[in-house]
Amino acid sequence: MLYIGSHVGFKKDTQLVGSVKEALSYGANTFMFYTGAPQNTQRSGIEDGLTLEAMSIMKDSDIDYSKVVVHAPYIINLANSDKEKFNFSTRFLQEEIHRCEELGVKYMVLHPGSHVGEGIDNGIENIIKGLDIILENTKTNIIILLETMAGKGSEVGSRLEEIEKIIKNCKYSDNLGVCLDTCHLSDAGYNIKDFNTFLDNFDKIIGIEKIGCVHVNDSKNEPSSHKDRHENIGFGHIGFETLIGVIYNERLENVPKILETPYVDKEYAPYKYEIEMIRNKVFDSELINKIRQSL
Ligand code: FE
Ligand code: FE
Ligand code: ZN
Repeated sequence: MLYIGSHVGFKKDTQLVGSVKEALSYGANTFMFYTGAPQNTQRSGIEDGLTLEAMSIMKDSDIDYSKVVVHAPYIINLANSDKEKFNFSTRFLQEEIHRCEELGVKYMVLHPGSHVGEGIDNGIENIIKGLDIILENTKTNIIILLETMAGKGSEVGSRLEEIEKIIKNCKYSDNLGVCLDTCHLSDAGYNIKDFNTFLDNFDKIIGIEKIGCVHVNDSKNEPSSHKDRHENIGFGHIGFETLIGVIYNERLENVPKILETPYVDKEYAPYKYEIEMIRNKVFDSELINKIRQSL
């Protein structure tokens, strides 16, 4: 079974109901959302009435809620040595875990962080410390999925070995997993054309069972560019065939695939069209124009 969806909004007034309706409008059977704006940490309280309403909508739909993931805001940085910023990040992530629990979401994607010039080993050490604090304090069942990064700036997590080091040295490694991002992997220099070979390598370093989510994005840049600029499916340097190979790889069959591709002209969500194209497994070079014309 293919679990495919995209990131969707989560608005103050409609909350999970709005997210579910948006996902359904794209023909998705899973989705990812930020519990507020991704670039800030302002969050409003979860309204249980809306959560229950969303559950009942999902019951009559194809959406499998057990495959739905939350993405932590990307300004959170556990790798930072600055005490104030580090404490703020751990505090916010604990609150975010409670929100996930309230919403009944099991997976939370997290960017490992940026060491901001302090060096990769320092960054890794801070991340481990932060995760230990968060998981100690919350005693949660939530799985935090560390995302593979492009290696932009001082990002930690562009090498699988870095993620492995974090998971291995955290006291609560059972609460940790990995989110692959195809754009980031390519930008970081991993060859995903032969995805089975990549997975063999991943399995050796981390263990394939740790993969809890795949972000499916094409890349605006060449392999090893370390840029992190997402492109629509089939319109970038990774290409449709390779992405289809990732999406339909039977070793990751039960893992949700989430699109984070850019809006067309910054305005029109491409997900309904991209999901349809992915289901058809045939690249449509006119897709972007079609999206423009349909609106
Ligand atoms: Fe991400
Ligand atoms: Fe991503
Ligand atoms: Zn990215």
